[in-house]
Amino acid sequence: MGDKLVIGNWKSNGRRLENEALLTLLCAQALEPNIGVGVCVPYPYLDQVGRLLEGSAVVLGAQDVSAYPDGAYTGEVSVGMLADFGCRYVIVGHSERRALFGESDQMVARKARLALEGGLVPVVCIGETLAERDGGEVASVISRQLEPIWAELDVDDLARIVIAYEPVWAIGTGLSAEPSQVDEVLAFVRQSLSSRSTQADTVKILYGGSVKASTAFDLFSLPDCDGGLIGGASLVAVEFLAICKAAAAVSNNGSVNE
Ligand code: PEP
Repeated sequence: MGDKLVIGNWKSNGRRLENEALLTLLCAQALEPNIGVGVCVPYPYLDQVGRLLEGSAVVLGAQDVSAYPDGAYTGEVSVGMLADFGCRYVIVGHSERRALFGESDQMVARKARLALEGGLVPVVCIGETLAERDGGEVASVISRQLEPIWAELDVDDLARIVIAYEPVWAIGTGLSAEPSQVDEVLAFVRQSLSSRSTQADTVKILYGGSVKASTAFDLFSLPDCDGGLIGGASLVAVEFLAICKAAAAVSNNGSVNE
């Protein structure tokens, strides 16, 4: 646990001029020393964003990676390439990739393993749809998504991943999950992790889904919440900075994760 982590997911957004304006504002603010902050940007902007972040505390990430190494995989971007651009984080298994691009639980686990082997930290996204929640299937869906991760990674590697619980119905909808709903799932994930790793307490578990400055403090204050994966709000400097401030405030309060 320890310091809170806030990671922005720009999704398929950005232009060079907009990126520069956003990151200039972000980097001009002294970020608190007791949080980690990253931005996961589209592949074409990795070089530009990497340069703009030089000398700042904000770290670079990507939003996906190939399930294959370098080679004859036309159109794919390998872990080695992401490392070459200085990425620290890579999101794997975002619900948009699972739903729109057919990524299986097994493929997500494989991407996570390749990311770790290449020296990156995979941010493994999991979460249920509204129909699954309404059907009382949250625990079984989360378990089904986690099992291949547990099977693919060895115990030491498990301690190096980040997990992001993102209920599909809360992503991009403006409808954040209630803290009590998030609390229940994060505790379940932590418990599942504990049965595999003695270092379960050190693994960062994030919440994602319509987090705003106004909701961040309460969500990040949950006992098993180590921060957030932020989509839409990460494109608005003042909002993203306020979310980072909320994360720092929770850490400063010492109310959680000491
Ligand atoms: C996301 O894309 O991971 C996400 C959480 O999006 P939003 O914050 O816009 O719901």
